Amino acid sequence: MASYTEDGQQTEDYLFKIVLIGDSAVGKSNLLARFARDEFYPNSKSTIGVEFQTAVTSAYYRGAVGALLVYDISRRQTFESIGRWLNELHTHSDMNVVTILVGNKSDLKDSREVTTAEGKALAETQGLFFIETSALDSSNVAAAFQTVVKEIYNILSRKVM
Ligand code: GDP
Repeated sequence: MASYTEDGQQTEDYLFKIVLIGDSAVGKSNLLARFARDEFYPNSKSTIGVEFQTAVTSAYYRGAVGALLVYDISRRQTFESIGRWLNELHTHSDMNVVTILVGNKSDLKDSREVTTAEGKALAETQGLFFIETSALDSSNVAAAFQTVVKEIYNILSRKVM
């Protein structure tokens, strides 16, 4: 998409749809709030997540080129749901959607239930990028989004050139 700067120069805009998915309360809203506005909500009410197989599901995924697949390192159950979320993603979107596995709440060191090695291993098996983040202390939040955007840009550049 072309647009123009104040002095009339033509520039390119890119609009990418990136979805955040994962179990309720893993920190999806707060990762976005931290990245977009540098804000954090200590007691945020869980958003109404994309439930499996609801009417909104396919609209949520449609056209997505990137995905952050989020679990909470302090709740093992959220890590065990990742396979289901991956299936969901592949059912509703292009197989080539650039996906990063995100182990959020890395600040909760004392209540960790999923090791970094386990996260890495799952990502490798599934061909995903991997990162651990904390929306609370900002660690790696920008990097998680940037990894996805950079890869999408690389893929698009290869197609254009
Ligand atoms: P969502 O349902 O996946 O969108 O999760 P939310 O963003 O609403 O977060 C659920 C709860 O976890 C909230 O109470 C947040 O304050 C908390 N939370 C989110 N990210 C972090 C984090 O990185 N560290 C800690 N300690 N808490 C977090």
